[in-house]
Amino acid sequence: MITRAIFWVFCAAFPALSAAEARWHKGNTHTHSLWSDGDDFPEMISDWYRQQGYDFLVMSDHNALARGEKWVKEAVIEKKKISLGVTALEKYRRRFSDEWVQTRQGEDGKTEVRLKTLEEYRKKLEEPGKFLLIEAEEISAAMGKAPIHINAINLTEAIQPVKDLAAVREVMRANLQLVAEQAAKAGKPMIAHIILCLHRRGAGGRLF
Ligand SMILES: [Zn+2]
Repeated sequence: MITRAIFWVFCAAFPALSAAEARWHKGNTHTHSLWSDGDDFPEMISDWYRQQGYDFLVMSDHNALARGEKWVKEAVIEKKKISLGVTALEKYRRRFSDEWVQTRQGEDGKTEVRLKTLEEYRKKLEEPGKFLLIEAEEISAAMGKAPIHINAINLTEAIQPVKDLAAVREVMRANLQLVAEQAAKAGKPMIAHIILCLHRRGAGGRLF
């Protein structure tokens, strides 16, 4: 599911810049792909944002970074993605070519597609000074049916969420602490923000 909420990030985050040098950048800091419960390939999503004139996009799948080897069944993709007359896989092939798209037959004889890692697809989509892809994870825990989600941006490695604590506030604090610790260890800035999860009933499932 693509969240199309727009976030404006002000360069005041970089205090070294003077007012004359500061500028606004348009981006989305909360985006899901097939690496978790999103409904499209990360390249297709990134391409959409780039074409809409965004300056940056943060891919933030649930408890996952787009690293390593991951295969998804075509049937699962087609169930998620509503494509008018053309399958999602066919659309992906048309946009990125047969050479780019990697498929195999699974043990059950059904087609599977390998998801590209961020390091693979950013070479195709990023444009220096114009469009930047940023790695992130939506650290996803829950208390009962209540999701406790935090987007951690610019991570160096995936964070396994702390889940089993007595209160929502404690879970939030523990997971924010993990991000702070990783940022201190890596010596680079990371941003964490709480995700408000809304649930839309009836037409289309979860909004976030
Ligand atoms: Zn989300």
